[in-house]
Amino acid sequence: MSSGSGSLMWFRKGLRIHDNPALEYASKGSNFLYPVFVIDPHYMKPDPEAFSPGSSKAGLNRIQFLLESLRDLDLNLKRLGSRLLVPKGEPSEVLIRCLKEKWDVKKLCFEYDTEPYYQALDVKVKSYASTAGIEIYSPVSHTLFNPADIIRKNGGKPPLSYQSFLKLAGEPSWASSPLSITLSSLPPVGNTGNCNISEVPTVEELGYEETQQDELSPFRGGETEALKRLRESIENKEWVAKFEKPKGDPSVFLKPATTVLSPYLKFGCLSSRYFYICLKDLYKNVKTHTVPPVSLAGQLLWRDFFYTVAFGTPSFDRMRGNKICKQIPWNDDDELLVAWREARTGFPWIDAIMTQLRKWGWMHHLARHCVACFLTRGDLFVHWEKGRDVFERLLIDSDWAINNGNWLWLSCSSFFYQYNRIYSPISFGKKYDPNGDYIRHFLPVLKDMPKEYIYEPWTAPLSIQNKAKCIIGRDYPKPVVAHDSASKDCRRRMAEAYALNQKMSGMVSAEDLRNLRRKLEEDQKPEVENKRQRKLIG
Ligand code: FAD
Repeated sequence: MSSGSGSLMWFRKGLRIHDNPALEYASKGSNFLYPVFVIDPHYMKPDPEAFSPGSSKAGLNRIQFLLESLRDLDLNLKRLGSRLLVPKGEPSEVLIRCLKEKWDVKKLCFEYDTEPYYQALDVKVKSYASTAGIEIYSPVSHTLFNPADIIRKNGGKPPLSYQSFLKLAGEPSWASSPLSITLSSLPPVGNTGNCNISEVPTVEELGYEETQQDELSPFRGGETEALKRLRESIENKEWVAKFEKPKGDPSVFLKPATTVLSPYLKFGCLSSRYFYICLKDLYKNVKTHTVPPVSLAGQLLWRDFFYTVAFGTPSFDRMRGNKICKQIPWNDDDELLVAWREARTGFPWIDAIMTQLRKWGWMHHLARHCVACFLTRGDLFVHWEKGRDVFERLLIDSDWAINNGNWLWLSCSSFFYQYNRIYSPISFGKKYDPNGDYIRHFLPVLKDMPKEYIYEPWTAPLSIQNKAKCIIGRDYPKPVVAHDSASKDCRRRMAEAYALNQKMSGMVSAEDLRNLRRKLEEDQKPEVENKRQRKLIG
């Protein structure tokens, strides 16, 4: 590499300085550096048609989180003598234009990304860079392992169980040598020419009106906040050593039962490798600690597991054409979907979780389990892809591999097949929070409902509803289904679908799928009954 040349560091995720091999390589031996994040209108531009404030792809909470992360990155770069350059447009076009604009770049560096959206962008940018003689450096640093390595070790197929993933993965190769955590300085920014570079925009500058939302996400974006949150989590050694994911209380919201590091990992404000090393160091210094799958390190391994399966599975985000996904004739019932999405199912536990999603963009893992199960195989029998879309938009930690993986799991379409195990929308939450404080916080309309009725307010006598200033059917909806019969019906339909999948396994052609659909659609009776029931209740 010639000295006296420039490098371009293309930030997409990986919005951090610590453990950022692409940034480190870009700065090595370069006289100047262009640290770029491209504002993609597709992702950021307001979409007035969308069902919540935000763009066509992302809710406003996540856009806000991303902008905060970019501002923090800019500040951290400035401390090292650089800054963030923020052009706007379709990212591959913008980058190619900048590279053509006499930026005199000899190295183009960016973190490798397995998500299809970035894979497609990378093809375009790499193809230009190689014809222009620009060196490309694109290391894997978003995950603990390189998904491609694991798939290769497994004979070209992704492992489909967590345990087989662990066996193949072993310890990460980098874990034995120290990670590069700090950079002391960066080369100055080169001349930007006519590339329309601006500062990190505010949400108002992106065209959003001041938000009307009454409660915003309490989680602020950025590497600084991520490292602070990580420090606070691991300061409590005992908590980390005893961490057992399934034992966490999903109804605790003021100080959640898990780390809430997911949005920081999503945008790469926090390196999962650094997080993992911190946990391993801590484990060395305690007498005993929990282990995967339930430990905190085990959670990071779940993340890598889903990244690996997602990377190695064509059509991972769809039912059709996805070999690891059971073919199930889900309902196309938009009325039920919208009731779920808008927190109007009439089940306070479900509606409170969906309100937390809308307001905060984050909920505890078990809370996500409850609403995903309820929408799909538990009660409403709505397609998991529709629920996935709602999460994808509203979560601040929305992550392509993890979100799809967990929806496949919760709908019993893949990975997990015990469809008889359904979360009750009434008794599950009550176990943790008998007084219903979580519900009272997120659904203030029910704040005066006595605890005996808070999980099933439709059973409260009218006098009690009057006293609580909440008439069911007027101030808060009646339940959209009767849970007992709806869940029974779901189980039956799952059993049928599973039987047909089994019959057809190994020979699922388009024709088979059509037959499967037809067969299950013919069986309309329970759906009619369901609708009748809904009318009776709702
Ligand atoms: P912690 O328990 O503190 O775990 C630490 C980290 O481990 C998390 O930040 C996350 O990166 C990873 N992790 C934890 N649980 C899982 C898991 N089950 N699968 C993969 N990685 C995991 N997580 C996302 O990050 N993005 C999503 O879009 C997402 N969608 C989900 C959809 C459904 C239907 C369900 C059931 C779960 C989903 N999860 C998703 C997984 C999980 O709920 C969150 O990662 C977790 O609740 C985040 O909180 P935390 O950071 O406090 O987790």
